[in-house]
Amino acid sequence: MKREYPCVEIDLCKITHNAKTILSMCSKKGIEVVGVTKVFCAELSVVQAILKAGITHLGDSRVKNLMNMKDICCKKTLLRISMESEAEEVVKYSDISLNSELETIKVLAKAAKNINKVHNIILMVDVGDLREGVLVKDVIGTVKEILKLDNIKLVGLGTNVTCYGGVLPDKNNLGKLVKLKKDIKNMFGIEIPIISGGNSSSLYMVMNDTIPKEINQLRIGEGILLGRETAFGKPIPKCYDDAFILKGEIVEVKEKPTVPTGEIGRDAFGEKPYFKDIGIRKRAIAAVGRQDIKVDGLTPLDENISIFGASSDHLILDITDSSKVLQVGDIVEFKMDYGCVLAAMTSQYVKKYYVKELKVAKGNTKSINLA
Ligand SMILES: *Cc1c(COP(=O)(O)O)cnc(C)c1O
Repeated sequence: MKREYPCVEIDLCKITHNAKTILSMCSKKGIEVVGVTKVFCAELSVVQAILKAGITHLGDSRVKNLMNMKDICCKKTLLRISMESEAEEVVKYSDISLNSELETIKVLAKAAKNINKVHNIILMVDVGDLREGVLVKDVIGTVKEILKLDNIKLVGLGTNVTCYGGVLPDKNNLGKLVKLKKDIKNMFGIEIPIISGGNSSSLYMVMNDTIPKEINQLRIGEGILLGRETAFGKPIPKCYDDAFILKGEIVEVKEKPTVPTGEIGRDAFGEKPYFKDIGIRKRAIAAVGRQDIKVDGLTPLDENISIFGASSDHLILDITDSSKVLQVGDIVEFKMDYGCVLAAMTSQYVKKYYVKELKVAKGNTKSINLA
């Protein structure tokens, strides 16, 4: 079969394996794993790979993605705070949505009533990261109002950290959720079943056994896809970090100096570039660029290749020391970080190929044995 480039090759076995590993680690602590599908635009093959691991609850930030998954039978949570304008779709396509605005929750209540449904919500609490959530001091007041609404059921408290402010989850900030759960019970006599303690950055607390025992749900995207926790960027034991491989085709190979000739102005992105003079190098251009990927999120599988930089459509590589002699038409391969997977999966110019047999990438030292 003729391949198109650039492409991302997605190893579904590695994703299933990672999901299984994380699920087993979390289940031991009584934590439900919500498999987050937004990074790969909820592509159904990847969704199936995650469900195959035994995960039964999916989360996405976009209603459109949940809509695409409407025929998949599992629990679904809308992760991004709902827009009022999409309330009808939210109650139709999600079982649970994360919310922080009373007015929106009222609109959801009305939409749920119209279709005779009870919509579940998790109230997001801002414990310090300054992205979404009601401030801790306002939670009780908000809960009081939510409890007055018909067709809305408050099923959880949640938080999201390490996303905007870079605040790390710890016993102290997750402890605030635990305390609120107790306060709500004392004040209103109701039990809040779900305490959703964050994303892949909370996994380190599962790994080192410091996660408060009341936390019983985590929403995990990157951990499953790239096999690492995101508080410190450490690999999760026995997980793969190369389930997504970017492949680009070389369109030029030439020996050139490392410093441009002429006066240096701004590059195509308005930045003033800096060049270190390391003499004449053998350079390759791969036909993939910033429209498709995040350059600093790429790691060549061949450790002897380095990246000079990229413009919208050209990735410029130093292949002087490459393990294999590379020519025009050859393919170069890269591991990707979160931002890079996000960009590549979203780019219509990047072809996606799903691999069903386990492929251990060349030059990958971190690969593990499944047996
Ligand atoms: C994206 C997202 C997640 C998943 O984050 P990862 O770091 O990929 O695990 C969890 N919760 C919310 C609200 C999100 O938007």
